[in-house]
Amino acid sequence: MGRKKEGVVEGFRVLTLTYRLSELQREQPEAVEQLVELFRRYRAVAAMHYWSLRLGLQEGVEQSLERAREELPSYWRKVFDSKSPLYAFNEIEKMKRPRKHVLKLPLIEALQLKRSPNEKQKLGAVLDVETSTIMIYLGNRQRLDLSIPERALRWLREKELEVAPLKPSKTVRIQWRPEKAQALKVQIVLRVERPQPPRPDPREALPCFVDINSSYGIAAIFASFDGQRVKVYETLKLRPPNRGRRLREAARRQRAAAHGSKPNVNYALARLSMRFDAKGWVKQAAAEIFRKAFAYAKGRSILMNFDIPDSEAVKNSHLQRTLLSVRRVAENLANWYGVYVEFRCFPSRRCPLCGGELKELKTTRTRVEKCEKCEFYDDHDYVPFYHYLKALGLPLPQWPLRGIRGLPDQSPGA
Ligand SMILES: [Zn+2]
Repeated sequence: MGRKKEGVVEGFRVLTLTYRLSELQREQPEAVEQLVELFRRYRAVAAMHYWSLRLGLQEGVEQSLERAREELPSYWRKVFDSKSPLYAFNEIEKMKRPRKHVLKLPLIEALQLKRSPNEKQKLGAVLDVETSTIMIYLGNRQRLDLSIPERALRWLREKELEVAPLKPSKTVRIQWRPEKAQALKVQIVLRVERPQPPRPDPREALPCFVDINSSYGIAAIFASFDGQRVKVYETLKLRPPNRGRRLREAARRQRAAAHGSKPNVNYALARLSMRFDAKGWVKQAAAEIFRKAFAYAKGRSILMNFDIPDSEAVKNSHLQRTLLSVRRVAENLANWYGVYVEFRCFPSRRCPLCGGELKELKTTRTRVEKCEKCEFYDDHDYVPFYHYLKALGLPLPQWPLRGIRGLPDQSPGA
């Protein structure tokens, strides 16, 4: 449909005809070949035109029209004419633009450079550790030098050690956001490729069970089998920072800034505390779980399971998107470290001992599940862990995993 006119409505009906291409090819081979060629050229030109309009790149719009004049017959070019009823790019300028543009370059360390001086011309970016600089080659013998803080270099070294003897490849991503052009965002991306790790034997490995719970956050349990029984090393609960406390802290910082004490710092901190970085929190939490798993494993393999509720179950939770991002973060860390990870879900309302239904007891601090048929009870968040151990063919540990305070007395006759 062409350009919309003010005060005009347009109705349309469509007749569809279909032809067998093989028949047309047999009858008019040259015409079909020309049609295919025309489409090939048209698509390349139209794609450039589309994205130039979408990104608001006047230069690209002009280039695509020039290419169209060179490569397409005039009547095929009507689609580029905004005054023609055939105009095909009506709504694009109103569409949402991609917010950032990323340029990726290979990053090579200066040390490697000395070994192969001939490669110099092909480089996009060089990391010179001695001068703490990233040098970005811009063409035309121009170079942009960016200094890197000592802390960042240490981080790079640590990450490289984590995957040794594998060598991560390095890339620089330079982000450009037209509406935020006052800052240049440069990222160094380390990537490591390794074969998919085999599933370790649960009797030899360190099973690590992670429960993602819509009501508060993340619980992780680290355990291992010593040949007779399952030993639980730690039950770890991670909660996102409390919203109320965060906002109070932000208000305090704003007051301090208004009264002139270190205004820049305090305004920045106020913004930080107001805008809770949920993704950052998930990344930190997942990294802590992996770090602890490695510490308890002491060289053994790690067998990890993340029990993540499906999106339906956490739909109305304010943590929804955060919690669902756990899977991607966990997968990435597992691939980075070469840890075997699964994402199976286990019940939290069924008794792991007798299969009976669990009933929630109200205590002052913890949600406790108690079996209707047998004596089993434990923290709601730990119940799936017992089912996980059963699925691994391991014996169950003593319950409850941790002492529970404020539990109503369960002994008969009390
Ligand atoms: Zn039971």
